[in-house]
Amino acid sequence: MRTNPDMLEKLVQRVLEEIRKERGRTHPESNGLVDTVDEAVERAVEAQRRLLILSLERRQQIINAMRKAALENNEMLSALAVRETKLGRFEDKVRENILCATKTPGIEDLRPKALSGDHGLMLVEYAPVGVIGALTPITNPTGTLINNSISMIAAGNSVVFNPHPGARETSTRMIEVLHKAIVEAGGPPGVVGAVKCPTLETAKAIIEHPKVNMLVATGGRPVVNVVLRSGKKAIGAGAGNPPVLVDETANIRNAAQCIVNGASINNNIFCTSEKEVIVVEEIADSLLKFFQETGKAYLMNREEAERVTQLVVDPDGKINTAYIGRDVQVILREVGIEVGEQIRIAVFEAPPSHPLVWLEQMMPVLPVVRVKNFDEGLKLAVDVEQGNRHTAVMQSTHVERMTALARAIQTTIFVKNGPSYAGIGLGGEGHTSFTIAGPTGEGLTSARTFTRQRRCTLVESFRII
Ligand code: NAD
Repeated sequence: MRTNPDMLEKLVQRVLEEIRKERGRTHPESNGLVDTVDEAVERAVEAQRRLLILSLERRQQIINAMRKAALENNEMLSALAVRETKLGRFEDKVRENILCATKTPGIEDLRPKALSGDHGLMLVEYAPVGVIGALTPITNPTGTLINNSISMIAAGNSVVFNPHPGARETSTRMIEVLHKAIVEAGGPPGVVGAVKCPTLETAKAIIEHPKVNMLVATGGRPVVNVVLRSGKKAIGAGAGNPPVLVDETANIRNAAQCIVNGASINNNIFCTSEKEVIVVEEIADSLLKFFQETGKAYLMNREEAERVTQLVVDPDGKINTAYIGRDVQVILREVGIEVGEQIRIAVFEAPPSHPLVWLEQMMPVLPVVRVKNFDEGLKLAVDVEQGNRHTAVMQSTHVERMTALARAIQTTIFVKNGPSYAGIGLGGEGHTSFTIAGPTGEGLTSARTFTRQRRCTLVESFRII
């Protein structure tokens, strides 16, 4: 059931009022937000120095406080994010934030490595890199900030964020919430920070700042390329176009449910969400029937699909950004189709060459392509993933085929028989990350990703056996 828009608007208004009051009360520098990149970086340098002097126990308390503050402010931040960016769904943003606050690993991720032998002891510890500059996306402004902050600070770093300007209000509020929690838990001010008005210019200044030791970009391929060209250590988490391949051995009803849930979460703006379905001919009709039986999918006919395609794909072949992350009702209404509130996604049959099979649409409009058999499906899935090394899903009970697709497609995340979001720990095993570093290979980032290794050697017999 959809959350009442009036209730959300009231929540947002209350939040904005609270923000105004609080910003009036607190000294600007004590909320993590400053005017210039230089100030933010200088504060981060000092904060990181002070963070390192604190005990690990204190650092753990800081991380706990960040988790708690993210959860306590979840509803207001989720409402603000939907209202400001117009992307996604309130209830799914709430789930995203719970996931990030509870399943992002903390300092336990930094287990040192030790080796003892005839020549003594060798110890490898995961040391902080220093100050990190992190660029965050408009699609998941709160989740990425919670997830990145916990990971980076758990590893002993400080972080200067440059959030997407289109999510400025939400992101700066999120940073204030985290900053307050850190300071109240005994952490140094400035360990997380940003400029009040992030822009592309401030992003450039962070990237080029000599005191920023590492860059992390979560966004499209262009921004990943920008940080990779910086000459600094950079982690790039880029775009995806995750296919889901369904073969004739799948539990078709379960596959339909998983795909509808995975592709419609947050109106398809998760980079991991299914962006096209590839189904073996033999069971294609059943899959379409089961999509409808979920009660959450609307099956468009050819002519309706054509109208929607013309709406959401520009004549130059790019996605019309006005429809990214919007509710399916909003998109369908534009072309004269009315569907009930329970519908979360529109599906349609498409040829392999259809633009929405190849573009990262990030909206609840999902093409379904029929293929003759598994081999043809595997080839198409690999092609449409386009070497992003991001995410792929398979619905099948044929173990050899699942292995064959995983080997051929080489994605960072490969989900079998679940919704795509199981791959980021939502209803699946393992930790979560909202910075999935496919291009640079770190995978689902965590505290250890934001470290450098240091070795200490003791040349003395140190064994106890
Ligand atoms: P985006 O690339 O437009 O922006 C991401 C961030 O980079 C923003 O902070 C933006 O201001 C900054 N940026 C963009 N161009 C820049 C430039 N030339 N110089 C400096 N900074 C620049 O992406 P978006 O629209 O905010 O987010 C959606 C995209 O992010 C999708 O492609 C999605 O797949 C991807 N994404 C990937 C992951 C992942 O973990 N791999 C997670 C979330 C989103």
